[in-house]
Amino acid sequence: MVQVVGLTKRFGEIDVVKDVDLSVRMGEKVAIIGPSGSGKTTLLRCVAHLERPTSGYVTIGGERIGEKLVNGRWREMSDREIARIRTGIGMVFQRFNLFPHLTALQNVMLGPTRVLKRSRAEAEPLARELLRKVGLAHKAADYPERLSGGQQQRVAIARSLAMQPRLMLFDEATSALDPELIGEVLNVMRDLARDGMTMLIVTHEMQFAEDVADRVVFMDHGRIVDEGPPHELFRSPSHPRTQAFLRAVV
Ligand code: ADP
Repeated sequence: MVQVVGLTKRFGEIDVVKDVDLSVRMGEKVAIIGPSGSGKTTLLRCVAHLERPTSGYVTIGGERIGEKLVNGRWREMSDREIARIRTGIGMVFQRFNLFPHLTALQNVMLGPTRVLKRSRAEAEPLARELLRKVGLAHKAADYPERLSGGQQQRVAIARSLAMQPRLMLFDEATSALDPELIGEVLNVMRDLARDGMTMLIVTHEMQFAEDVADRVVFMDHGRIVDEGPPHELFRSPSHPRTQAFLRAVV
């Protein structure tokens, strides 16, 4: 589903992501952990081509995002072509970014009606179903300012799912939430994982990563320095830097 090949992203003089290779199979859940500033967000943004790699590339479902082969040479894709691939990728960030002037239901319906050109009659039942799935059927008519942070983030997840993505990217989806609201968002993510969604998850929630991920990737200074099944990586990390990180956070 995702293949990251020799990916480097440089900002100024610094390689924030350094020669990273990573693949995610269909239905697999991969958690990315590591210290702040280690390049996790930048890697995730490169997967969605929100950042253009300095070198290397990413494929989504076998197709390179950002470049295409024309007469035997790699050329930059147009914004429209990039947008087409991106419709298959759901993204949930730390900040919820709901449209404040739209209700929860309207936020969830916006992508299907505007981007996928579905009729309201088609889009609304699906949007209501997704709000039910994230436990917010009763909040459909509420505006974001009336919702808690956890509820807003759940609407943001429903909004991503409305585009029927084949891959979901989560970038510290619970970091901006008050502690008592984190669980409800993680539970929605757990349900999604159980439903078989392919997920790439940057998180500081180690217990969640351990429960949900098929594989955990530890990044440090822009590189993947360790990876493995959660029980191995968390219980008996072999790399000294992973050990030091886990000792500090757990
Ligand atoms: P993490 O998600 O692991 O905390 P990030 O990918 O956000 O790490 O950032 C890695 C490093 O790249 C940080 O030092 C950050 O300051 C730097 N960085 C991220 N985005 C930019 C940018 N647009 N311009 C310059 N430096 C950036």
